[in-house]
Formats: sequence, C-alpha cells, structure tokens
Amino acid sequence: MKIEVVTIGDELLLGYTIDTNAAHIARALAAEGVEIVRRTTCGDTAQSIASAVSEALDRAGAVITTGGLGPTSDDLTKPAIAAVFGREMVLDEEHLAWMEERWRTRFQRTMPVSNRQQALLPAGATKLTNHHGSAPGIWLEDERGRWVAMLPGVPREMRGMLADTLLPLVRERAGSGGRVVRSCTLRTTGIGESHIADLIGAIEGGVGDVGLAYLPNADGTDLRLTVRDVGADDADVLLSEAASRLRSVVADYTYGEDAADLASVVLELCRSAGVTVAVAESCTGGLLGARLTEIPGSSDVVNGGVIAYANAVKTSMLGVSPETLAEHGAVSEPVARAMATGVRRAVDAGAAMAITGVAGPGGGSEVKPVGTVWIALDFRGSVEARRYNFVGDRGEIRHRAAQAALEMLRRRLLSS
Ligand code: AMP
Ligand code: MG
Repeated sequence: MKIEVVTIGDELLLGYTIDTNAAHIARALAAEGVEIVRRTTCGDTAQSIASAVSEALDRAGAVITTGGLGPTSDDLTKPAIAAVFGREMVLDEEHLAWMEERWRTRFQRTMPVSNRQQALLPAGATKLTNHHGSAPGIWLEDERGRWVAMLPGVPREMRGMLADTLLPLVRERAGSGGRVVRSCTLRTTGIGESHIADLIGAIEGGVGDVGLAYLPNADGTDLRLTVRDVGADDADVLLSEAASRLRSVVADYTYGEDAADLASVVLELCRSAGVTVAVAESCTGGLLGARLTEIPGSSDVVNGGVIAYANAVKTSMLGVSPETLAEHGAVSEPVARAMATGVRRAVDAGAAMAITGVAGPGGGSEVKPVGTVWIALDFRGSVEARRYNFVGDRGEIRHRAAQAALEMLRRRLLSS
C-alpha cells in the first residue's frame, strides 16, 4: 500500500513551524510496512488544500492530512476535502452534544459558537476518536475505496490519534502480511562521503538489493540501509548482510550503529582499558568536556580539564611556554602537543585531548584560515597531533573539532 501525506498550514510554508508531523507519520507507517511515497505541504486556503489532496488521491489513492481541523476561520480542511469528494457538510448532533457537555463539565463554560463547526462533518464520513483534544479526526472514503484520513495539526493530538485510531485501520487495509520497512545506520566519521562512495563502489555486487543513503552531518557521514516491503525476518537478514558488506570497507571509520554517540563509545572503551581522560580546550571552549560529561556515569573516566582560551591560561595552567606561543602561534602543532601533555599532568589522567583552532567567523589568515584546527592526544606520555581543515560555520567547526578529538582517542584505544 502506498500513502501520500499532505500537511496543511501557512505556518509550515512560512517556515515558522517545522513539519514534525510528516516525519512522525512516515516513521510510524514505515514500522507497519507502509511506504509514504510523497509529502506535500500546502497553505490554509480551500483551493490549495483541495488541489493538493485531489492530486495525491489520484496518484496514491490513500492520503493522510494533518492540520486545519480546528474551530477558527483558517481551518478549512474538512469543507475543502468534502468538496473534492462531492459531499455536503452535515452537522453531527452526537458530536455537538459531546462538545457542549465537555465545555460545561471541563471548563465550566458555555461552548463558543465558533466550535460548532467542529461538529460539521462531510456526509458519509467516519469520526476518528480524539482522546487528546476536541477536534475529531475524519475518515472519508469514496465508492472506489480511495480514502483520506484527516488528523489534527497539534502534534500531541495527531500522534495520539494516529496510534490509537488510524494505525489499526491502516493495518487492516494494508493487510501487509507482516511486511515491513526497516533501516539500520552505520555511523562513520573522519572520512568524506565521496571517499566512502568510492570505497563502496569497489564492493562487488554493492550492498545487494537494499537502499543506501549517505547522510553527511557534523558528526561525520551516516550510512543508512533500508529494506522495503519484505517480511520481518527477511528484513533483518538482508540488512545484516548489507551492513557486513559495508563494514568490509568502512569498518575503520565506523564507530557505531543507529543512534550511537562517539563520546559514549569512547567512554566505554576508556572504562574497559582503565584509562582516565583529561581535556584542554581552546576554540571548543568546553564542548568536548560537555560531550563526555553529559553521559551519566562519566565521572569514573573523566578527571577534568581546562578551558584555555587566552594564551596566558595556556601558559599558567598548562605550562605552554610563551616562547612556543610566540614562535608558532596559538593554533599550531607544538602548542596543541604542549596543551595535551600539560593537562594530562595537571589532572593526572591516562589520556589527554587538546584542541586549538580558528572557529571563525573572524580570526582566519592565509596560512591558518577559518577551520584550521590542531588536535593533539597525549596517551600515557606518547603524543600524536594532526592538523584539520574543517568546513562549516562556527558551530559546525567547533562540533567537528570535538568529534575529531574523540575519534583520535577512539583509534588510539583500539590500537593499544
Ligand atoms: P491546526 O490544526 O492547523 O490549527 O494546527 C494547530 C497547531 O499545530 C499549529 O499552530 C502548529 O503549531 C501545529 N502544527 C500544525 N501542523 C503541524 C505539522 N505538520 N508539524 C508540526 N506542527 C504542526
Ligand atoms: Mg492551521
């Protein structure tokens, strides 16, 4: 079964509200083996709702909408879709009575007249119960079995109704016979997506009959494998075969699967190796320390660190010599190395990561442009350092730097 989603609301088009409803619906339906084949967003006019829904119906025959079911003048979803189906709007006395009663008992007030329109339904429609608000959802179907399910826009109400009422209906219709849409993700870092594409291109037979998406982000590049319309057991086999093919070329850069966090992975490795950790941070200003200490239980691994933003602090707290700073500049290999060793001694840790760089937007030069970052690792007295040239804005550069430092330590732990 194929379904299209139409999300309705000017606020979505204007970008003031992020369309989380469409994402939520897609994930929930994928778990049921139902594919969302297209998503459309339209504004709050009857005409644009009608054309978006009728086009979607023509293509897929099954449509889920969200939004525009409320009591105000911008809530036009019901009449617009009723018109597409050639249906009148009729007053649902039962729902009206229920709403009036709800206002009396729950709010101790008479129901505003504008709420009456929430009890108007397209003729022949079925109500979808709303346990989380007053606007019912609506199921409307034509003689040919084509249907539209209208859900409220408020995300909490939409999610509740989807789970309680609509998913069981869709499940019944789809009769997917236990078929699923399932994904698994390998999280890589320290390698660009085109480089990964080259490596994967060299695998004979590729990843098999499985969809592969490259998802670059500030953590690295996630590789998402997806199988569609197969039985649950087959899905797991296909995914694990594809994942092991992928791993055969990118294992070195892969730090985890699905929602894995590199900081957690590193903490776990440190814990099993009995290594304690220190950080010395200039341009990341504590980001690396925050990534590590955000994780519950990190205190048995993380000793502490220094935010050495000013040169004077690099000298007084970490023992970086003023001569080294003057000769090489704060963003340099010798300074990164000295920071790592300085902090490792200062907090008596097994491993210390140090970061010094130009996060921008100002402060770049021809030899050290914005994005230039030196990262050093002092692992039990043996020091390594590497220069990185990160792209992105200030936030991304800082995030990438912290991630790269963690990756340097991960690699060191795996090789020791
Ligand atoms: P509506 O049902 O159209 O009156 O929408 C009520 C509220 O729900 C809006 O003000 C938005 O804050 C929110 N909303 C509507 N559509 C969406 C959507 N697709 N994703 C996330 N929030 C939404
Ligand atoms: Mg709206």
